[in-house]
Amino acid sequence: MNKEINLTIKPGYVKAYQDGYPLISKESIVDWSKVKDEGTVITLLDERKKFIAKGYYGKQNKGYGWVLSSKKEVKLDVRYFTGKIKSAIKYREDFYSDESTTAFRVFNGEGDGVGGLTIDYFDGFYLFTWYSVGIYQFKEDILEALKNSVEYKGIYQKKRFDTKGQYLDDTDDFVCGERANKPLIVKENSVNFAIYLDDGAMVGVFLDQRDVRKTIRDKYAKGKTVLNTFSYTGAFSVFAALGGASKTTSVDLANRSRAKTKEQFSINDINAEAQDIIVEDVFNYFKYALRKKLSFDLVVLDPPSFARSKKHTFSAGKDYVNLLKEAIQITNKGGAIVASTNASNFDMKKFKDFIAKAFKALNGKYSIEETFSLPKDFRINERFREGNYLKVVFIRKLS
Ligand code: SAH
Repeated sequence: MNKEINLTIKPGYVKAYQDGYPLISKESIVDWSKVKDEGTVITLLDERKKFIAKGYYGKQNKGYGWVLSSKKEVKLDVRYFTGKIKSAIKYREDFYSDESTTAFRVFNGEGDGVGGLTIDYFDGFYLFTWYSVGIYQFKEDILEALKNSVEYKGIYQKKRFDTKGQYLDDTDDFVCGERANKPLIVKENSVNFAIYLDDGAMVGVFLDQRDVRKTIRDKYAKGKTVLNTFSYTGAFSVFAALGGASKTTSVDLANRSRAKTKEQFSINDINAEAQDIIVEDVFNYFKYALRKKLSFDLVVLDPPSFARSKKHTFSAGKDYVNLLKEAIQITNKGGAIVASTNASNFDMKKFKDFIAKAFKALNGKYSIEETFSLPKDFRINERFREGNYLKVVFIRKLS
């Protein structure tokens, strides 16, 4: 059983917690020094010792813990977690019954009432991601709660005890049940994906881009030349090719991306030889493309929010305007740019400002065709808007 302790909220912050703000921030609490162990259950009181909320201590880059309940008597036990997981599953009934999509998020942290934990579904397998040592202390109860709630083939986990986007412990674990095939083939809107549940930090696909991939396939790809930058396993390229792109070019710095992208093409019966897969720094590729006068009808930009390569440091907040400028110059007139970011330190309005700035600097004209944020399964807590990190804008280049 995890320890319990009372902490006092600073007066200016009481109202926010009363209104349901879920993140326990460092600066909102008077007496952090009382807490030693990650996973300690904390009861938040106001200065007159009135009960406000209950949560746990778990350090993440985002804060020092999460509120789990506004009920004084609540016990953070198997029953509690079973209730949360069951209602999360109910919210995703459509996904469970859709045979054309067998990979989706079942539990999205604070959006489903428990910050610091996500659970993803991959064709009968479940994957926990633990975002702090603190939430990991509840593992046995949460595992039991999942077993109470679903039938499963197997369960896996990733420990993402995250400070600066670094994985402190990258031994990704099989937990119980059957082991998944390597790769495990899942479907997304009838497209196949090869998933590796125990091969490092990432499984091969980012589920939050599902609607964007479908839109590219169904509305933007036909007959077009497509450049997919920061392509990882080439998920956008696969959807573009299936949507009838005349050719896709995938660019990623990581050596692994070539084989991974070939694999995604081949399990979808796309001839990988007819596609370009380039292992290179995107910023070098832009220079090369300009020099060779290459241009594309559709350019996808989906960089990490922060990345360091040999020559460049990229930070979305500082460098996205430049990235856009590079992309605009090699996009055909009348073509489109899909600009995406998962940076949580700026919002959609700011992102649109970046787009305006980039076009202005090049004296170009554009229109915004459509925008996307997180899909339904990545459920958002209305009191925690910063949890809605994904921003995707489809831009038409007019001149
Ligand atoms: N767009 C991908 C996900 C991108 S993940 C998808 O939809 O699946 C970020 C990728 O950017 C990683 O694969 C990483 O290797 C790559 N990357 C980071 N910095 C890069 C750079 N400067 N040039 C090319 N690729 C880069």
